This record gives sequence, structure tokens and C-alpha cells, in this order.
Amino acid sequence: MGLRFDVVTIFPGMFAPAFQQGVVGRAIERGKVELLAHDLRDFTHDRHRQVDDMPFGGGPGMVIKPEPVIEAVESIRAQNPGPVVLMEPWGERLDQSVAASLAVERGLIIVCGRYEGIDDRVRVALDAREISIGDYVLTGGEIPAMVLIDAVARLVPGVVGDPGSLAQDSFSSEPAGWPQFTRPAEYRGMTVPDVLLSGDHARIRQWRRQQAAQRRVPHTKELKKT
Ligand code: SAH
Repeated sequence: MGLRFDVVTIFPGMFAPAFQQGVVGRAIERGKVELLAHDLRDFTHDRHRQVDDMPFGGGPGMVIKPEPVIEAVESIRAQNPGPVVLMEPWGERLDQSVAASLAVERGLIIVCGRYEGIDDRVRVALDAREISIGDYVLTGGEIPAMVLIDAVARLVPGVVGDPGSLAQDSFSSEPAGWPQFTRPAEYRGMTVPDVLLSGDHARIRQWRRQQAAQRRVPHTKELKKT
């Protein structure tokens, strides 16, 4: 059991350093998560290993060609039965429920775009889900893919040591994300709220709920309305 991520990218070297350390690094060591980065250029057939070409209809920039992406996914398919995800800024917005819906899969095949994006026939041919990490444009899909991998991997059973910390996550059930404190109880004159030292768990729960609700930063679009 576990979840296998196969990433298709022109920069496969970006992935190992990002996931060597920390919770995901340990999950990889323990076999709970597998992560393989594949070089898109290995699936080209020309001397220049070209993965992009000019957009039909004109316009600036280049577009990722369909053939190498589709051939890469076909070669990965035998080992990874999971859905195909394309990282694209116009895709479905990644949130905790999208991450949870992917964490139940046995594997994911993630394609990172570059330039002006990926030829749309890839989405159609592979019945792919397009996912965005937010309404801003990055230079490539690698960092978005890392965000997705991290968010999904920590939901795989056994990856996070204490399952209680998943249950109390922000966005999981009721609002979490209250202010947290650890020792020392006083630092440069700043003290920890008394209630947290009281040992009264009902009052602590109530305080945390109230703080979490207050702490939520409204989305900028909502802010503008008022
Ligand atoms: N001109 C395009 C930008 C393409 S950005 C546009 O206006 O939409 C190049 C690649 O970076 C994309 O194909 C995608 O893989 C990745 N990318 C950039 N921003 C992203 C985001 N917010 N979420 C997911 N992927 C993103």
C-alpha cells in the first residue's frame, strides 16, 4: 500500500531535493510514498529533443507538444493506474478537499507545463484533471506539482506520525488554525494566554474555536465587497 507519484517534467532534477527531508522524505524512505520524476525530453524522437512548438493561431510563446507527454504517460501507465493531473493556472483550484479526493488513489501521474501551457489534446486523450494552485502565474508546473504532492502525501495513511494532527488541521472539519504556543511560557515579556495553562479542556476548546474563527483572513475578493 501507499501512493505512487509519477511526474512528467523537463526539470526532473527539481524533485528529489524538495522531498529528501521532512515528513515526505521519511514517508519515501518507509515506502508509504513513491516519487518518480521522468524527463519529458526522453520521450522525444528528434535530435534536438524538442518538447515545444509554436501555437496554432499565432500569439506569443510556445506550447508543449502532445506526443512526448502522451508517450510518457503511456510508458508510466503499466506501473501507475492512477488518474492524470495537469498543472495549469486555469484548472480546478487546489484545496484540502481536492487533495483528499486524490489521496485515496493508488497513484497519480502529474504533468508539469511550461511556456504557454500544454497542447489541449493531452487533456482530452488522457482524460486528465487540470489543477491550479491559485490565481497567479508561475513559470512552470514543477512548483505547483510539489505543492500538490506535499498536500496529498501527508493525507496518505501512516505518513503523518500522529493522525490526531490531521484531524485538527485547518480546513478539515470545523475551523482550526488557532494560535499555537510552546515553551517558554514567557518570552521577552510576551506571555502565553492563561487559558492554555489552566488545564480546563472545555475552556481551552472553546477559546481555540473562537480564536480560529476570528483568525480567518477573508479572501481579498470578499474584502473588496465591504
Ligand atoms: N500563459 C499562460 C501561463 C502558462 S504558465 C496563462 O496565461 O495561463 C506555464 C506553466 O506553468 C503552465 O502550463 C502550468 O503548468 C504552470 N503553472 C503556472 N501557474 C500555475 C498555477 N497557478 N497552478 C498550476 N500550474 C501553474
